[in-house]
Amino acid sequence: MDFDFSEQQKMVRDMVRSFAAEKLRPGAGSRDESGEFPVEIFRELAALGLLGMTTPEAYGGAGMEILAYLFAIEEIARGDASVAVAVSVTNSVCQWPIVHFGSEELKRRVLPELASGEVLGGIMLTEPGAGSDLASLRTTYRREGDRFLLNGAKAWITNAGVGATFVVLATRDRSQGAKGISAFVLDARQPGVVVQPREKKMGLRSSVTAAVMLEDAEVPVANLLGEEGAGMKIALATLDHSRLGIAAQALGIAQAALDEALAYAKQREQFGRPIIEHEAVGFRLADMDAELEAARWLTYRAAWLSQRPGRVSRTSAQAKLLASETANRIAALAVQVHGGYGFSREYAVERLYREARVTTIYEGTSEVQRMVIARALKGLVTTAPE
Ligand SMILES: Cc1cc2nc3c(=O)[nH]c(=O)nc-3n(C[C@H](O)[C@H](O)[C@H](O)COP(=O)(O)OP(=O)(O)OC[C@H]3O[C@@H](n4cnc5c(N)ncnc54)[C@H](O)[C@@H]3O)c2cc1C
Repeated sequence: MDFDFSEQQKMVRDMVRSFAAEKLRPGAGSRDESGEFPVEIFRELAALGLLGMTTPEAYGGAGMEILAYLFAIEEIARGDASVAVAVSVTNSVCQWPIVHFGSEELKRRVLPELASGEVLGGIMLTEPGAGSDLASLRTTYRREGDRFLLNGAKAWITNAGVGATFVVLATRDRSQGAKGISAFVLDARQPGVVVQPREKKMGLRSSVTAAVMLEDAEVPVANLLGEEGAGMKIALATLDHSRLGIAAQALGIAQAALDEALAYAKQREQFGRPIIEHEAVGFRLADMDAELEAARWLTYRAAWLSQRPGRVSRTSAQAKLLASETANRIAALAVQVHGGYGFSREYAVERLYREARVTTIYEGTSEVQRMVIARALKGLVTTAPE
């Protein structure tokens, strides 16, 4: 067993940590208030090579392994979780399936502008009536000559309106269930893609989320991912991978909340001494520290396993479940440590508490993660590590 990180991993972590402390953390609160999408910050992230991190160099990416990517997401989220979600989405749910299921021609055509950060990407899975039960989606596709035409409504799409390239799931015939669903790469810069007004969200308010109408949206036949009918398999494999990014985002939010709580507990005095010296507060911080470390190492191990052969559904769901639930607990406790000031928008913990909330919801709710783990357990005799 070796818990050491490689030089490249440490270099990425340290570089993104300083970038986040200098460029993300200071404006996170005011962007949360204004909802402004930080275009300039994305230019800088692109220049640092953070918008195509695991995409191979042959297609313009940085070709890094997943742990370096998770370090980057964790550190970005520690500075500003709104930025982290947009970075995670363009890297993982958009570029990853294209790298793994796209044809060589498609990869050469669409990946360079995504990986360089010239454009942002995203994914369109969710619909107004299909969230956890993705296979019940209603967006349809039909073939006309050398193109597919997509029609339907997608909901909750991150980077809608600011991104150009989206992986989209649609069905050719709902009566075929999951087998009727295919995955496509859609260029959103066309009249058939109509982005609705931005959602007014509880948190992550400077990231853009909106519903999207597809009205005869055109997709060249060459933009099909994998085979026709393989859409659900592709989406599930993508989520197995991308959930690690949401786990990393949760770790970053939790770390920021713990940082804030620790600093406050050392400086705030009640009953004649800093509150950290009251055992109830000190022990609370100790629990936060221990739980965060457990979630962190479960996530890193899941990332390590994801680079070995075999399905990673269970380990990736474990990491997402534990990291997101832990982030919610830690953010709530950080508010408690701040007393009344934790309830004020003047203090970062108020924002962190709202940001943590979504991590148990998107890319599969905690209930969905438990379903994935329980399904895997049915096939096991023992859960002891091999
Ligand atoms: C900020 C934000 C950004 C998002 N970005 C994207 C994006 O870029 N692309 C995209 O496609 N989607 C995106 N989503 C959508 C997100 O993935 C879904 O909201 C999520 O999968 C849950 O689906 P739902 O909202 O329809 O909830 P539902 O599926 O309706 O679930 C409602 C509740 O019922 C529970 N539930 C449902 N089925 C079961 C069951 N069988 N057993 C037990 N409990 C169950 C759920 O856990 C949940 O608590 C985003 C959402 C948010 C909030």
